[in-house]
Amino acid sequence: MPTGTTPDFSNVLATIDAQRDETLADLLRLIAQPSISAQDIGVRECAALELELLQKAGLEPRLLETSGHPMVYAEWLNVPGKPTVLFYGHYDVQPSDPLDLWYSPPFEPEIRDGRIYGRGVADNKAQHFSHIAAIRAWLTATGSLPVNVKVLLEGEEEVGSPHLDEAVAHYSDLLTADLVYTSDGPVTDVRYPEISFGVRGLLYIELRATGPNRDLHSGHWGGVSPNPIWTMVRALNTMLDDQNRILVDGFYDNVKEPTPGARAAMDALPFDVSEAIGRIGLTEMAPPADLPYADRIMAQPTLNIAGFTGGYGGPGSKTIIPSKATVKIDMRLVPDQHPDEIWEKVSVHIAKHAPDVEIVRLDGGMVPSYTPVEHPLAEVVRDAIEVGFGARPIDIPLVGGSLPDAAWTKTLGLPSFLVSYGDPAQANHSPNESYAVDRIRKGVVTSAALLDGLART
Ligand SMILES: [Zn+2]
Repeated sequence: MPTGTTPDFSNVLATIDAQRDETLADLLRLIAQPSISAQDIGVRECAALELELLQKAGLEPRLLETSGHPMVYAEWLNVPGKPTVLFYGHYDVQPSDPLDLWYSPPFEPEIRDGRIYGRGVADNKAQHFSHIAAIRAWLTATGSLPVNVKVLLEGEEEVGSPHLDEAVAHYSDLLTADLVYTSDGPVTDVRYPEISFGVRGLLYIELRATGPNRDLHSGHWGGVSPNPIWTMVRALNTMLDDQNRILVDGFYDNVKEPTPGARAAMDALPFDVSEAIGRIGLTEMAPPADLPYADRIMAQPTLNIAGFTGGYGGPGSKTIIPSKATVKIDMRLVPDQHPDEIWEKVSVHIAKHAPDVEIVRLDGGMVPSYTPVEHPLAEVVRDAIEVGFGARPIDIPLVGGSLPDAAWTKTLGLPSFLVSYGDPAQANHSPNESYAVDRIRKGVVTSAALLDGLART
């Protein structure tokens, strides 16, 4: 029986509609509660409100303490033998400044032209609240859930999830499940729902070259003192060729070919590449010319100079030999690379080719992560999205950015599916963040249909 066609599910749909006003009111309350993790504003109060809303939905919630802001956890495990889904989301939000650019105050949610405006509405409150509303509708309509459910809401996503991996490892017994399901971020094109299967990883380093102990007169000392900016340029030139091939020994050793399903999905992406690069003011992509767009994001690592500082950059001329040069480099990694392994290889490279340059690792980095597009549960997720959004989703094998997805796929060893309920207009992290009101029902129905579909796997 296809997902979303049982009599029970009809009752759930009717309940979702009957609870519509209350769902919206609860969501507005959630948005009105500030929870800015970076500034420690309202975070615990918001966690307490999440506990209340989860309890109202019929779950047994509690806080899981971490070394940072707490996680909110709830479970309903009354159908032994049925699958267990772990819904992940985050209740913290970005800072709201600059305040003068908001048309309505960030923590006084307002509905205008079919969109709710407020800080955190899209990222991530309306999205994870869709799961909670779906659970509530199931329990109201049928007194039960068709599968076991766990909900985990993090309070530090917007500051880089510094304790997520540690907490997931610590609570791994509690978090056991058959899959992890996350709704966050916008889809790429408002016309198509999407399901994302993985993320690129990240390694961030700084290179430092040092010359004389102060900036020098380039006439008095030119030819005598080495110039650290040239030292840096030579070092950088050993790292990447003119086709953007990374020259660090062994850098590509663990780059995995996309699976056949991922390859097919990449070839089928309906995005207009010339339109996309036109939007950033370009007419062609970086070399090599023949590399398809999808491969650049989903199959290839990068070594990107994010910043280069040194010498004089002010108006007019200043004739100096600078005393130091600094470069910041981020590397986006793909499966099965690991930031520790790449750090090792880049360090060896710099020691060999640019011994005068100091290399520093700036943070722990992020491990790339993916779930195969061919995973059997992916079809259940696709069916649920079709019930909620009325269209088959596009498969995105890997998104270009980095998220702590490896906490699920590596630490817990679970398949993980990212299904964005938001649209491209939602302005995450910006003033006037918003969420389309009609996407609330679509999201809630998708989450409800997921529970229905999982029950029959
Ligand atoms: Zn965010």
